[in-house]
Amino acid sequence: MSISTVAAILPTHQFKQNESSSLLNNRADAISNAWETDIEDSSGDYSLRTHTHWDKPVSISSDDAGTARQEAAEYVHNNYSFSSKYDSILVIHDEKWNDNVTGMAPIPPTDGDSDEIAAGNNPQPVAIATTGTLIAAADTHEMGHMYSARHSDHENWGVAEFTVMGNPSSTTCNGNDHTFRTRKNRFSDCDITPIRDYMDNHSDLF
Ligand SMILES: [Zn+2]
Repeated sequence: MSISTVAAILPTHQFKQNESSSLLNNRADAISNAWETDIEDSSGDYSLRTHTHWDKPVSISSDDAGTARQEAAEYVHNNYSFSSKYDSILVIHDEKWNDNVTGMAPIPPTDGDSDEIAAGNNPQPVAIATTGTLIAAADTHEMGHMYSARHSDHENWGVAEFTVMGNPSSTTCNGNDHTFRTRKNRFSDCDITPIRDYMDNHSDLF
């Protein structure tokens, strides 16, 4: 049985005002390229496709990432109705928040106590990412979270070559270095099992 997922990528109003639709498409492509390289298997299972919606901008006003994510989720769910073909939604912004966080996502529960909405659920989960100067690849990082990838799943592939789920306070899955510098737009081998397991365990939703 083939299992795949589709994400909608939306701009904020501010992104739409300052940037171009091709930049939004490029950012969406970077997410799906990382996924295709590192998560999808050789038979095409576990693929992630992205669809951009330049015509569906999102309003946020908060200057911290967590509140902005909640605003974005409410805005999306109140203003746009997406068909169930979308399993997750990422809103892309282009200005940093005051707290210097470059994105925020709902993370699937592991203990059954959380009510976080994760990929494949309805309504679709909404994550938000912005443009960071120091920490690149925020878009792919937040997408990974919605499919259960965690900070502790990252690796250090070389000097300042941390895979995409890295976070400043987290150790790598191999314990080889936790001094965070920057991210590559790549998932580590430690991300493959949790993400594929998440998609398998929720295959009725995809
Ligand atoms: Zn994170």
